[in-house]
Amino acid sequence: MKSDRYILLEDEYGAHNYKPLDVVLERGQGIWVWDVDGNRYMDCLSAYSAVNQGHCHPKIKRALTDQAEKLTLTSRAFRNDQLGLLYKELCDLTNSHKVLPMNSGAEAVETAIKAVRKWGYQVKGVPEDKAEIIVCRNNFHGRTITIVSFSTDPVSTTGFGPFTPGFKVIDFGDAQALEDAVTENTVAFLVEPIQGEAGVIIPPDGYLKDIRRICSEAGIVLIFDEIQTGLGRTGKLLAEEHEGVEADLTLIGKALSGGFYPVSAVLSNTEVLGVLKPGEHGSTFGGNPLACAVARAALKVLVEEDLIGNAQRMGDYFLKGLRKIENPKIREVRGRGLLIGVEFHPEAGGARQYCERLKEAGLLCKETHQTIIRFAPPLVVTKADVDWALERIAPVLSE
Ligand SMILES: *Cc1c(COP(=O)(O)O)cnc(C)c1O
Repeated sequence: MKSDRYILLEDEYGAHNYKPLDVVLERGQGIWVWDVDGNRYMDCLSAYSAVNQGHCHPKIKRALTDQAEKLTLTSRAFRNDQLGLLYKELCDLTNSHKVLPMNSGAEAVETAIKAVRKWGYQVKGVPEDKAEIIVCRNNFHGRTITIVSFSTDPVSTTGFGPFTPGFKVIDFGDAQALEDAVTENTVAFLVEPIQGEAGVIIPPDGYLKDIRRICSEAGIVLIFDEIQTGLGRTGKLLAEEHEGVEADLTLIGKALSGGFYPVSAVLSNTEVLGVLKPGEHGSTFGGNPLACAVARAALKVLVEEDLIGNAQRMGDYFLKGLRKIENPKIREVRGRGLLIGVEFHPEAGGARQYCERLKEAGLLCKETHQTIIRFAPPLVVTKADVDWALERIAPVLSE
């Protein structure tokens, strides 16, 4: 098999910070990817929801190549003709007032942390270096030192200290815990509307509304990390819309580029971002014209092709189909839109074996936290595609 050579090269010369399935991909179109041996698979991970628009979407590809022939990087030392347009389009789409563009999701999280700390000192009057940010157990916000400083996953933290102070951890889905944790030095609550990496953990109904109210009453900034849940994945543009609430800061990334290029952003609904003055924060590549052109096209595709509505409809249909699978080893099937998790009982012996068998059946899925498989195909998936998937998933998950 041709793939063997690439696997050997990766394993010999690369750091082993991932344990990928042994499938070597060379081409993608829509929901499908092909390996170097010519096998076709349905992508049920969508690069952790970065390719919501489908692989190599022609309109985004066109925007990328057109822009690449004109201008790719100016740095923010100069202005470019794409940045203002992206700002305006993002603000109109998400009902925000201000945008700060970065590259990776983790950088958007770091940016938010810096902004709310500064806001805490300058606006709220928190004593210097005393700002606290409340976060949730089993969170996933990225991999930098400050972000893993408030991770509760030992795999993410062990051996990486010393850590950044200033974070307080509470249980996810428990609004009372937030109310109890707030002190006069609290500046923000950072939370995922649905915990993606933790295994598609959906909070109890009313939670988002409750935390919105608590943050408003306490005078602290509510930050939603929608890097995975945003941009259509859960059947709404932003997952916060499921409860009709708006965060003060919203973090997006991943699908903001449709998978072509790392683009992330902090969206601000208040004047929090206004506290950042020239020179206090930045990024060489953040807001570059290539990224902006790609992001503009990626957003346009989401809206024009009604991928958000499709995620809702196909998600419901997929979820219903998965729930019909009978196997006492399955503990729960849950999801919102096309962010779906199938959780096995611990006795089932882990979800990885199912992912290996799904791969043989033509579907690429990845386990999370040992017992959970996430099903999150690109949002361009059709009913016929979901039927195709269910036909192959059912026998594997029934074993
Ligand atoms: C993926 C992810 C991040 C980190 O994004 P990177 O681009 O990998 O840095 C942050 N928050 C959430 C919720 C994510 O899913």
